[in-house]
Amino acid sequence: MMSMTLTLHDTLARDKRAFEPGDRKRVTLYVCGPTVYNYAHVGNARPVVAFDVLYRLLRRLYGKDAVVYARNFTDVDDKINLKATEEGVEIGVITDRYIAAYHADMDALLALRPNLEPRATEHMGDIITMISGLLAKGAAYEAEGHVLFDTQNYDAYGQLSGRNLDDMIAGARVEVAPYKRHGADFVLWKPSKPSEPVWDSPFGPGRPGWHIECSAMVEATLGSPIDIHGGGHDLIFPHHENEIAQSVCAKAGPGHEHPVYARYWMHNGFLTMDAEKMSKSLGNVLLVHDLVQQVPGEAIRWALLSGHYRAPLDWTAKLLEQSVKALDRLYGVLQRAKAVNMDILEDDEVLAPLMDDLNTPLAFSRLFAYADDLDRSIRNGTEDGPEHKGKLMTLAGVMGFLQADPDAWFKGGADEDLSAQVEVLLQTRKAARANKDFAAADRIRDELNALNVVVMDCPQGATWRFRDTAND
Ligand code: AMP
Ligand code: ZN
Repeated sequence: MMSMTLTLHDTLARDKRAFEPGDRKRVTLYVCGPTVYNYAHVGNARPVVAFDVLYRLLRRLYGKDAVVYARNFTDVDDKINLKATEEGVEIGVITDRYIAAYHADMDALLALRPNLEPRATEHMGDIITMISGLLAKGAAYEAEGHVLFDTQNYDAYGQLSGRNLDDMIAGARVEVAPYKRHGADFVLWKPSKPSEPVWDSPFGPGRPGWHIECSAMVEATLGSPIDIHGGGHDLIFPHHENEIAQSVCAKAGPGHEHPVYARYWMHNGFLTMDAEKMSKSLGNVLLVHDLVQQVPGEAIRWALLSGHYRAPLDWTAKLLEQSVKALDRLYGVLQRAKAVNMDILEDDEVLAPLMDDLNTPLAFSRLFAYADDLDRSIRNGTEDGPEHKGKLMTLAGVMGFLQADPDAWFKGGADEDLSAQVEVLLQTRKAARANKDFAAADRIRDELNALNVVVMDCPQGATWRFRDTAND
C-alpha cells in the first residue's frame, strides 16, 4: 500500500534522504530523553511530540509491531544530585517523582509511550563494559581517577557537527583540565564528589559521563546500527558527536574499520517564548504540567506541530489560542458529520505531507481542506462524504489528532466523568479478583474495553489509559 517514499532530513548527510531501514520487520528509533530533576517545559515537549508523529507514521508504514522506539531517562546528573541534597532525600525519590510527572504530562499531549524507557542507573553494568572495551582498544585512557575518550584516536571525530579538532582546542583552551591529552577529549567515567552517588568499577569508584550512558543504552536496548537517532538541535554537539565516537570505536574491527552507529540523525529546532530563549533566569519557562490544567493537551500538541519540526518555533499566547480554534473548527465538522460513514483508504496518498520529512504545516492545511470538503458534502447532500471523512481521519490519526468524541471536545469537562467511571470499575475489578470472582472481573474488563480503556497491571497496582485508536 505504500506508494510513496518517506524522506527524512539527516543531520549527518545535511540533506533529505529516502528512508530505508536496515530491517523492515524491526525499525529502530532512539530519542534522547529528559534529565529528570524537574517538570518538563513546553520546549522539552517539542521533541516528544515531533518524534511521536514519526513513530506513528513508521508504525503505519511498517506495522505496529515492526517499530521499536526507545527513549531514555537520564537519572544520573549533577542537577539531580543537587535537588536530592536540597530536599535531603535519595536521588531515586527525585527521579521517580519527575518520571511519573513526565509520563502524565506527555500522555496528556497524546504522545504514545515508547516501547522501551531505559534508565542510566539500570544500565551501569553495560556502561562499565563499554568503557572497559574502549580502554582495551586504546580508544580511551585513564588519568587521575577519570577515564577519558581519546578523540585523536578517531579520525572522523567532528563529522556530525562539522567541527574540526583544531577549532575545538582554540575554543576550549581556557577550561581544559590538566589531565586531558587533548582539549576535545571527554569524560567517560569520573570520581564522584562526596555527596554524590557512586558505583564501583575497574577504574575506581565513581560515575559515568552523560554521553556514554546513551551509547550503552542504545546498544543494550536496540543494538546498533539503529535506524534513526533523534533529539533536540542542542544535542548535535557534543552529545551526539560523542555518542558516535564512543559507539563506533567500541565496535571497531581489528583493522579499525568503523561500523555505522545510526543510519539517520534527526534534530528538532528550538522553541522560543515570545521570541526569547526559554530560560529560568528570564522567568519565561512554561511547564507542560501547568499548561495542561488550562488548555486541552491536544491544543498544545497542535501548537507544537504548527511549525516544521526543524525550524525554530515561537510560543505565544496567540498561537495557543489559534490552536484551540483550529481544533474547534475540525471537531465542529466531525460533530456535524457523525452520521457520515468513513471510507477505508486504499492507499496512503493522504500521508504525502508527512512522508516529506514530516511536513506538519502542510498536513494541517490538508486537514482543513478535507474538513471543508466533508462539510460541503453534508450541506449539499452529496455522496462523497465518506471519502473526505476517510482522508481527514486517516491523516489526523497518524498525527495523533481528532481521536476524541467531538461532543467530549466541546464539553471539555466530560473527560473527568469518564475518568471517575473508570476508577470505579477498576476498584470493583480489584475486589472481584480478590474474591476470586473471575466471571465478574472479566465482565468489568469487557466494560473497560468498551470504554476504550487499556489497563496495565503492574506490581504497584493497575494504571490505565485510553486506547490510541489512531492505528487500529
Ligand atoms: P534535557 O532534559 O534538557 O536534556 O532536554 C530534553 C530534550 O528536550 C532534548 O532533546 C533537548 O534537545 C530538548 N529541548 C530542550 N529545550 C528545548 C527547547 N527550548 N526547544 C526544543 N527542544 C528543547
Ligand atoms: Zn542521548
